Amino acid sequence: MSGGQPLLEVDGLKKHFPIRSGVLGGVSAHVYAVDGVSFDIRRGETLSLVGESGCGKSTVGKSILRLIEPTAGEVRLDGQRIDNLPAGQLRPLRRRVQVVFQDPFSSLNPRMRVRDILAEPLRNFGLATGHGETEDRVASLMDKVRLPRDAIGRFPHEFSGGQRQRIGIARALAPGADLIICDEAVSALDVSVKAQIVNLLSDLQDELGLALLFISHDLAIVEHLTHRVAVMYLGKIVELAERSTLFARSHHPYTRALLSAVPVPDPEAQRQRIILTGDVPSPINPPSGCRFHTRCPFVFDRCRVEEPLLRPVGKAGHISACHLEHAPGGEVVPQPNA
Ligand code: SF4
Repeated sequence: MSGGQPLLEVDGLKKHFPIRSGVLGGVSAHVYAVDGVSFDIRRGETLSLVGESGCGKSTVGKSILRLIEPTAGEVRLDGQRIDNLPAGQLRPLRRRVQVVFQDPFSSLNPRMRVRDILAEPLRNFGLATGHGETEDRVASLMDKVRLPRDAIGRFPHEFSGGQRQRIGIARALAPGADLIICDEAVSALDVSVKAQIVNLLSDLQDELGLALLFISHDLAIVEHLTHRVAVMYLGKIVELAERSTLFARSHHPYTRALLSAVPVPDPEAQRQRIILTGDVPSPINPPSGCRFHTRCPFVFDRCRVEEPLLRPVGKAGHISACHLEHAPGGEVVPQPNA
């Protein structure tokens, strides 16, 4: 992982989806799917974006990729704005930022052989000319994702789920991407296959210096892969920290609840399970003050009226949006005023 200027900077990103109703289709409300999200990713770094389904994490990924247009905020790649690039100038973005989706079966053309699936981006970006060079590059991609070279003549349905995800990763690598957005990329796989794909991504990162934005609802999986973790709730990041800090000394009650559900490898050790009550509120009408206050076991008066801002807590780089202070003994102390 390198220092210096981040590879990707996301600053105040918002995506509000209008809800239209009535005969004239006027905008009657908005879904505040992403509501002011900021983070950066360095070269060779993995940042995981975690949270329950519907928290806006996949919308963040799609907004960076310009698969949907952000409502507000800035996204920069190597310092250059990419959120406002005209459609005709998106080619460098498409080459440098790639995505691996959850369901490799639906994201791979079932009528194309693996050879053609991998050759397509090479040709589109002018990275291989002529049959021989293309075949060599395709064979090398198969090696990288540890699939047999002689499988290039097969169709996607002839592979297992894990193998199909390897093809998806090879396709993302083909244009020489700097950043791969893995959107629930291992969520649909069996436990052992998940671990294999996570190991593969980790090895590829070491080998190629890739940056990864790993979007997942599963904290247990990101623990083995990530450098930092950003936790999202209802369209906002509520906590961000280095992996070891987040897993050992999380601050936000929502993060603590998510962590309490992560199995501990040592059968003697126990984490006290925090069961969250109530449903995730609607992003159309998010709660006042702290968005988590309707489910938080530590809620107090201030939480209902004043939105907590992300602020440094504990170690450098650890930020959390919560009005609680943690006393040295680990107990939480409400802070009634700023
Ligand atoms: Fe809970 Fe209040 Fe902290 Fe929100 S600000 S997480 S409601 S203690």
